[in-house]
Amino acid sequence: MRELNATGFMHNRVRMVTASFLTKHLLIDWRWGEAYFATKLLDFELASNNGNWQWAAGTGCDAAPYFRIFNPASQAKKFDPAGVYVRKWVPELDTPDYPQPIVDHQFARERALKTYKFALSNN
Ligand SMILES: Cc1cc2nc3c(=O)[nH]c(=O)nc-3n(C[C@H](O)[C@H](O)[C@H](O)COP(=O)(O)OP(=O)(O)OC[C@H]3O[C@@H](n4cnc5c(N)ncnc54)[C@H](O)[C@@H]3O)c2cc1C
Repeated sequence: MRELNATGFMHNRVRMVTASFLTKHLLIDWRWGEAYFATKLLDFELASNNGNWQWAAGTGCDAAPYFRIFNPASQAKKFDPAGVYVRKWVPELDTPDYPQPIVDHQFARERALKTYKFALSNN
């Protein structure tokens, strides 16, 4: 989010991780994320932004399966193994200033799976 707020751009991989985190780890309505990106992205384009947010949230005409929940830590390991990108935007990583996680990944993953399963079986 710091990259987006500072530059108006965010790499596609990070957009996917961010959208998955907001909609599945935090169970926040994808439309909030879509609207925020629309105010910040220099390359904002309604169809791409809306379609990609719905893809990440597991809704819409080209949805990723709801059980596809990105793990931010393993995504960073895989796509930024030397931590160059993360340390550029989060210089306090691995320092006492680095905050506690706002949600535990395993807890959030299980909560999202339960919530989506319940919603799908009750609609
Ligand atoms: C949550 C989310 C929101 C997004 N919002 C937008 C948006 O508002 N506007 C936008 O143009 N793209 C959006 N994208 C798609 C993609 O992230 C950007 O097109 C890409 O990051 C732009 O960087 P680039 O030009 O270096 O892309 P490159 O990887 O070099 O791709 C070249 C061009 O292909 C097109 N493209 C690539 N990936 C996608 C994709 N997943 N969906 C649609 N077009 C794509 C774009 O026009 C892009 O400029 C979004 C993706 C996600 C996951």
